[in-house]
Amino acid sequence: MPEKLIFELSHKGRKGYTLPRIDVPGLSEKLIPEKLMRKEAAELPEVSENEVVRHFVRLSNMNYHIDKGFYPLGSCTMKYNPKVNEKTSAMAGNADVHPLAPQEAVQGALELMYNLAELLREISGMTAVSLQPAAGAQGELTGIMLIRKYHESKGKVRSKILVPDSAHGTNPASVAISGYKAVSIKSNENGTVDLDDLKQHLDDEVAGMMLTNPNTLGIFETDIVKISRMVHDVGGLLYMDGANLNAIVGLVRPGDMGFDVVHINLHKTFSTPHGGGGPGSGPVAVNDKLKEFLPVPVIEKLNDRFVLNYNKPGTIGKIHSFFGNFGMHVRAYTYILSHGPDGLRGNSVNAVINANYLLSKLRNAFVLPYKARPMHEFVLSADRQKERGVKTLDIAKRILDYGYHAPTIYFPLIVHEALMIEPTETETKETLDAFADALLKIDEETKSNPEVVTSAPATAPVRRLDDAYAARKVNICFKE
Ligand SMILES: *Cc1c(COP(=O)(O)O)cnc(C)c1O
Repeated sequence: MPEKLIFELSHKGRKGYTLPRIDVPGLSEKLIPEKLMRKEAAELPEVSENEVVRHFVRLSNMNYHIDKGFYPLGSCTMKYNPKVNEKTSAMAGNADVHPLAPQEAVQGALELMYNLAELLREISGMTAVSLQPAAGAQGELTGIMLIRKYHESKGKVRSKILVPDSAHGTNPASVAISGYKAVSIKSNENGTVDLDDLKQHLDDEVAGMMLTNPNTLGIFETDIVKISRMVHDVGGLLYMDGANLNAIVGLVRPGDMGFDVVHINLHKTFSTPHGGGGPGSGPVAVNDKLKEFLPVPVIEKLNDRFVLNYNKPGTIGKIHSFFGNFGMHVRAYTYILSHGPDGLRGNSVNAVINANYLLSKLRNAFVLPYKARPMHEFVLSADRQKERGVKTLDIAKRILDYGYHAPTIYFPLIVHEALMIEPTETETKETLDAFADALLKIDEETKSNPEVVTSAPATAPVRRLDDAYAARKVNICFKE
């Protein structure tokens, strides 16, 4: 047993207070090298409760978030986060559960994760699910590792993975980090996979193909069954980037389309908080070909008890500490149960209707590069406005002056001056009308007064920032 460590901060605080001794049982003093021990108290701001509260209220007022207004970020799906999700995740049995608690003491938590995995399995049309990955990107990494393991088990890992040129940047990154070569496949004039180009790249070195469906233009890949057959015919597997699953939940299933593995962004499709609002969660669902390779532990049901099974000889190992981000599992489970199958299907349908309604209001003012009817999001080009000297970035900045968050811009890369708009299902017609009016007014401004657009924002707490400089020279000190 290591001796008990007395973790003593034996110096005086700034105002002469002696800091408390902190006993950390089970830690050896040698664990923390002397050179890393503090010699002086940290200089923390000393302010009253009033001042602290006002500081954070002021910051939260400067921030923009989904509770404050419309957030049309395409691809990222800034969905409404129902308040009931917060209620259930804050319940003591969920919020205070400890990852090292004995399995017998956390049967409820294990049951919740087991049930959530079952629901995601059904929604995706797959045969097994791992809740471990902490984000879509980590789900991609997991999925490609599964594909690699599958080919390893067949005796040859192969060397390349095909990725359409409309894909999200995380796709080729996940391919590269898994030791594969990412090969880009062209999109055709409809914005979907060019089958001739695909055919030319198919051979026995193809380990698989990653596809987003609906794709990042918001367009459904109607040739998906054909694509699946083509990739499978050369022995490859098909990965679905499930970031856009919110357009198709309850309507079509990745498993039925021929995918072998899909990641599901709970923070997109299943209403758990996004970005700064909380950690992500990117469960992976697979069919029988990949089931035996899933990360451990796998939650299994044995005679009405739930157990963690680490004994899976084929596993790729662990992907995340413990079982992933449990708080997100509680929120997604709440969302799925509180909507039910009809509610979830209705949300998908409404997301598609809202996007198409908004597009109908904007398509005359902006260029629509791909004409196919979109699903839950659409991509415009500001090429026409650029001829008047106003770039997409300027339009995005000007939208802030109208009180909205900007849409996703300059993505997907195959569209010049891209504006990618996703309203989501919960927005009212009034909100969509007001947002469309703002964009149409900005279009008018590009003709009558372009300077007001190119110099925007005028009303935000700060004007234009040098993002690259800020990223290179991070300054997070409370004072110089
Ligand atoms: C968001 C997104 C990802 C990555 O997911 P994260 O959860 O942000 O890691 C991948 N592909 C597409 C199309 C996305 O929109």
